Amino acid sequence: MDYAVLRKRMVDSQLVCRGIADARVLGAFYKVERHKFVPEELSANAYADYPLPIGENQTISQPYMVALMTECLSLNGQEKVLEIGTGSGYQAAILAELAGEVCTIERFSALAQRAKVTLDELGYVNIKVKAGDGTLGWQEEGPFDRIIVTAASRGIPSPLIEQLKEDGKLIAPIGESFSQILTVAQKKKGKLETTGICGCVFVPLVGKYGCYA
Ligand code: SAM
Repeated sequence: MDYAVLRKRMVDSQLVCRGIADARVLGAFYKVERHKFVPEELSANAYADYPLPIGENQTISQPYMVALMTECLSLNGQEKVLEIGTGSGYQAAILAELAGEVCTIERFSALAQRAKVTLDELGYVNIKVKAGDGTLGWQEEGPFDRIIVTAASRGIPSPLIEQLKEDGKLIAPIGESFSQILTVAQKKKGKLETTGICGCVFVPLVGKYGCYA
């Protein structure tokens, strides 16, 4: 299997065609080997236009959704980014190509451990992975220039708002359990100003400040 060919096809036919235009973002997608982040038996599908299972009933998101969320963060290479929902580690790798430092939290320790092994094997030295409840944020590492939440909830957990820097940006799927709006928020004078980007469907954010119960 020529993964480099599949990867180029993925970028051109799924990302560029749908309007992802930031050259740095596209460069990261050309580079990061998505097939290393999916279970081996699914590696032939790693560059397909849909999410894939990664264990624990969780998914690696569709490439386009990862790209859109990344582009919305407008990264210049210097930022400290917090990701909630490490999953496979693929989004963290993309962020690490584009920002200064990435801190990522996953509630399933088996997924967090596997992601850390993958990211270490690929040589990433600017990613910290932690198992735990990401709705609490990562107090010791904050504040953050950017926060990305890759699981859905009805609102933005208050610790994440507190740990976001002034003028910082946060992106998260906000809404009901089977239908959300991808929402970008910017912190201005301590409050979030939000903009809806598009409809989306993510697995639920399960934690102290995030569940649908
Ligand atoms: N970003 C991931 C990737 O690149 O593979 C995909 C993330 S998947 C769509 C959402 C992840 O959020 C799942 O792995 C899930 O276990 C995790 N999650 C849900 N609630 C969480 C929480 N409170 N804290 C940390 N992770 C959480």
